[in-house]
Amino acid sequence: MTAIPVSSQQQQQQRGVAVLGIFVADLAFRAAQLPGVGQTIAGSGFAMGPGGKGSNQAVAAARAGAGVTFISKLGQDAFAANALALWAEEGITPRTPQVADQPTGAAFIYVHEVTGANAIIVVPGAAALIDAADVDAAADAIRGARVFVTQLEQPAGAAQRGLELARAAGTVTVFNPAPALPFDDAVYALCDYITPNEHEAAALSGMTVETIDDARRAGDFFLAKGVGCALITLGDKGALLHSASGSVHIPVFNAGAVKETTGAGDAFNGGFAAALAEGASPLEAARFGSAVAAISVTRAGTAPSMPTRAEVDALMH
Ligand code: ATP
Repeated sequence: MTAIPVSSQQQQQQRGVAVLGIFVADLAFRAAQLPGVGQTIAGSGFAMGPGGKGSNQAVAAARAGAGVTFISKLGQDAFAANALALWAEEGITPRTPQVADQPTGAAFIYVHEVTGANAIIVVPGAAALIDAADVDAAADAIRGARVFVTQLEQPAGAAQRGLELARAAGTVTVFNPAPALPFDDAVYALCDYITPNEHEAAALSGMTVETIDDARRAGDFFLAKGVGCALITLGDKGALLHSASGSVHIPVFNAGAVKETTGAGDAFNGGFAAALAEGASPLEAARFGSAVAAISVTRAGTAPSMPTRAEVDALMH
């Protein structure tokens, strides 16, 4: 695709964060066992909450203070109403057409009532149908944003189209290659930042990624593929910001006792994008994302665990 020259005036008008991704209603059932085929058992608990990496990252960025547009696709059902109510509450602008012939995304999550072990079935529903034409329909939101973020829960071709539009408009691109699924090699060169966790970095690079030194080697792999900067998250070992100008380890913040780490990556990415959209340097933005994630892991849930801006500022200062 031909690059469109970006005027500095156009860049000055860019504001906030555009996220392309999926929403799923997380339906968590607690029971002593998974039912066998043909069996019905009584469970001991049920909870429903908002999920989907893209939607979680949008909530994290909005609570961190960014103006956020969320690009996705929904069904015409009760879960779609839940999603729209969530985004309205969080001040997120949805660009989420609703289709009649597919459900809104949903996840069945079985949780063992004693061990906490889980088994999950995710159905992205309407969001599995997001294609390049859907992304083109939201091109104005991508071009108008200062930062564009996407993942791989919707089809990879849609993520690529979003990254192409963002790059052509001079919008900063953040690609969170999660879950670790295949995508076209051309995507790397569209990434100002790629933000895999250690498992995704290992799957993409073919290397073992457990230590900070491993992450540095994987970072070199991503740079050789054409990304501007690799930001590899390593759970409680922190994160590594790796570019041609050097490598910086970002240790974790301690925000209290850890309760649930699910969604830490989404918190990190949402916070990172929000800070970049305010004009923070890559290192400042990575530290900010790390603080957002550190608070989120002290709370239950994913989207509900995202901190407010005041909470992040209090932890960092
Ligand atoms: P998930 O898939 O569970 O959403 P992830 O595997 O994508 O998470 P991680 O690498 O586990 O992401 O964590 C992302 C960031 O969150 C880390 O780089 C770190 O900054 C922060 N983090 C993770 N675990 C902790 C922790 N126990 N204490 C403080 N911060 C943490």
